[in-house]
Amino acid sequence: MLDVFSTSSISENFSPPTAPPPPSPAVSRYELQKRRDWNTFGQYLKNHKPPLILSRCSGANILEFLKYLDQFGKTKVHNCCCPFFGHPQPPAPCTCPLKQAWGSLDALVGRLRAAFEENGGRAETNPFGARAVRLYLREVRDSQAKARGIAYEKKKRKNNKRHFQEQEKEGDKNLKLP
Ligand SMILES: [Zn+2]
Repeated sequence: MLDVFSTSSISENFSPPTAPPPPSPAVSRYELQKRRDWNTFGQYLKNHKPPLILSRCSGANILEFLKYLDQFGKTKVHNCCCPFFGHPQPPAPCTCPLKQAWGSLDALVGRLRAAFEENGGRAETNPFGARAVRLYLREVRDSQAKARGIAYEKKKRKNNKRHFQEQEKEGDKNLKLP
């Protein structure tokens, strides 16, 4: 669960293992995660060749970013030739790639979409809200559901919030950034 937290603490703030500063109770886990994601995205823009400018980012750039993150994923997504395609619990290892779970990407895009506007971006030009990004996430959800044999069922409206929190938990667990 704390993978992301420990990883980024080490990279951002390398220091001897003394007692960490007490976390501010005013800042929620969601907020902390959102800031880390925003920093990660900023680094990605800076390291991109050629460097990307936030205000000129399009949905296509966001798709590229999401695909780049797959290399840090920990979720096995079977390809269609794998004998375990569609098995939720394969009995043996296989060579299919590890990717970011759909729930991780979905939650990440939600946080970055909010962060974009909190950092002065305009809602109308928010690349995280682009149609291409929505379509991509839907495609990832459907293909991972098939490949992993997991149904991302649509919950009834009254359960939406709980469902979302579960997805986000799964996301936190699986999202591993550089
Ligand atoms: Zn496989």
